[in-house]
Amino acid sequence: MTLEDMITAVQTELGIQVDGRAGPQTWEAVYRAIVLHQRRARIAAAAATPSGAADGVGIAPDDPRSEQAIASLLPEVRPLARALVHKAAAQGIQIRVLSGFRTYEEQAALYAQGRTAPGPQVTKARPGYSNHNFGIAFDVGVFEGARYLGASPKYKAVGALGMDLGLEWGGSWTSLVDEPHFQLRPAWAAGLPERQLLAELRARRDAETPVFA
Ligand SMILES: [Zn+2]
Repeated sequence: MTLEDMITAVQTELGIQVDGRAGPQTWEAVYRAIVLHQRRARIAAAAATPSGAADGVGIAPDDPRSEQAIASLLPEVRPLARALVHKAAAQGIQIRVLSGFRTYEEQAALYAQGRTAPGPQVTKARPGYSNHNFGIAFDVGVFEGARYLGASPKYKAVGALGMDLGLEWGGSWTSLVDEPHFQLRPAWAAGLPERQLLAELRARRDAETPVFA
């Protein structure tokens, strides 16, 4: 059977236009039939088991907030953020991705908090001085059911899982430990101090050079 025959057979089975070529329409149909279908089946199974439903074990990240935060990241980072959610769930730890990319404007507003604007200080980073400004960083929250845990030993377990995936974990930093924070360090930045990494990221942004080139 040739590849074209296989694609034709899959298209016929999915009830979509048959042309023997797997374009976006075919992939969307395959995705809906396999991934979405299985995800819904897992959620339905978890919901049918009261304990499983309560702590979210095995549930895929179907919360809109995680989806939105993951979608804001660079394409190279998204699958790793998703994988982290899944790996944590497999260990019985429910996490959500609470934030991802922030524009310079959003960073400025955050930086103003507790300085020139009301509220507590939440960041030491000015615009361009946070990895979140370049789409390579995200923060997670640990949950037990609907309850958010600001501090929990589970963050360390999630950190280990993230490092297994090749992510840099904020909990491993020696200054300013940041356990909810993960980032994907580009290959060119291996071994670079954080300050130089950020300087290069700003330069690439100004020159419109891709981060992962
Ligand atoms: Zn962060």
